Amino acid sequence: MAPNDQDGPFPWHLGVFDSHCHPTDTMSSIKRISSMKARSLTIMATRSQDQDLVFSVAEKHGVKSSKIEDWKREECVVPAFGWHPWFSYQMYMQDEHEESKLLTEDQKITHYQSVLQPCPKDPTKEERRALLSMPDPQPFNKFLRETRKTLLRHPYALIGEIGLDRSFRIPESWIPENEAQRNSTLTPGGREGRRLSPYRVNLKHQKAIVKAQLQLAAELGRAVSMHGVQAHGAVFETIKELWVGHERKVLSKRERRKMGDGAKGGSEEKREPEETKDGKKKPYPPRICLHSYSGDASTIKQYLNPAIPVEMFFSFSTAINLSDLESRDDSTPQDFVELVKGIPDHMLLVESDLHVAGEDMDQRLEDIVRRICGIKGWALEEGVKQLGKNWRRFVFGEDAEGGGPAE
Ligand SMILES: [Zn+2]
Repeated sequence: MAPNDQDGPFPWHLGVFDSHCHPTDTMSSIKRISSMKARSLTIMATRSQDQDLVFSVAEKHGVKSSKIEDWKREECVVPAFGWHPWFSYQMYMQDEHEESKLLTEDQKITHYQSVLQPCPKDPTKEERRALLSMPDPQPFNKFLRETRKTLLRHPYALIGEIGLDRSFRIPESWIPENEAQRNSTLTPGGREGRRLSPYRVNLKHQKAIVKAQLQLAAELGRAVSMHGVQAHGAVFETIKELWVGHERKVLSKRERRKMGDGAKGGSEEKREPEETKDGKKKPYPPRICLHSYSGDASTIKQYLNPAIPVEMFFSFSTAINLSDLESRDDSTPQDFVELVKGIPDHMLLVESDLHVAGEDMDQRLEDIVRRICGIKGWALEEGVKQLGKNWRRFVFGEDAEGGGPAE
């Protein structure tokens, strides 16, 4: 095929993989997954209401091996379990409360004072009522224990969606009259048009929540799907805190020449063993994908440092990265073009980030793949193969069949 065949038929048969989506937000759409054109969806959990849903979908549709050729048709899901930053305020970190007991009203207020920003220091009666109407905070350690169990049951599951977000505000709690009218086809917990409160979650609390989950990913050797909005520097620093002291030795050109062809430089270097020399698990996750990546090219450069021992991926969606440009005729914005151009071929992934499975999801995946192929100058078949290979390496790591770095 010619390199510029972006308008040709779409090679679904080569395998297209959604690296980040939320179809359990619309459970009625789950039955469509096994008849989608996309071969497999990486489905995120985010909050209390969707952990069990992702679990049940994984029980039915989870892939049972890293060898795609062996998958049966109903094997079309890779689950991910995690606690999203938008819901981080619902968790407390301390062990000081007895887990089986709900916090008292005063403890609940104290918790929200410690995690919200602006801090409701001396809450008025009205503010107190608003804080007490928020969810009862839950012990995060309990969530981590349950998630560990879930991950052990699903050996191919990832950790996600987790991350840091400086821009979101917490929605106001439902007023009972309105709650009765909410859309019952949607999984609860989402915003659903609720008004926003003045509160954000302070970054200190978000970091504690994200770090514990990155450490769990490290312990179990799982890949991570990460969200970062207006916090790209903080995301980098948080990951870095885990790998610091474990940087890879980067060989100079001369050293490489001396060692012969076996030692390639940079990102193509042989992957690190999973354990440190003294047999301990590494303190950082093996692979991390920054999903619907919204940072700029200069932040990406930080991640391209070959001394970084985490294998990084960057994933893009039309929904977030291109604000839902839907028609293929829409030209792709120049800053997005530059961003994608700056990412090495083997680090790119695609996703829908959609809340409904089915045709629309397929269409968005096709759209983002075509755009990326256009930007990279890839023939469609070549691009779909490359992106598929990247997804297999992201999810399965070294076990991925034929999933090594691009030749
Ligand atoms: Zn998401």
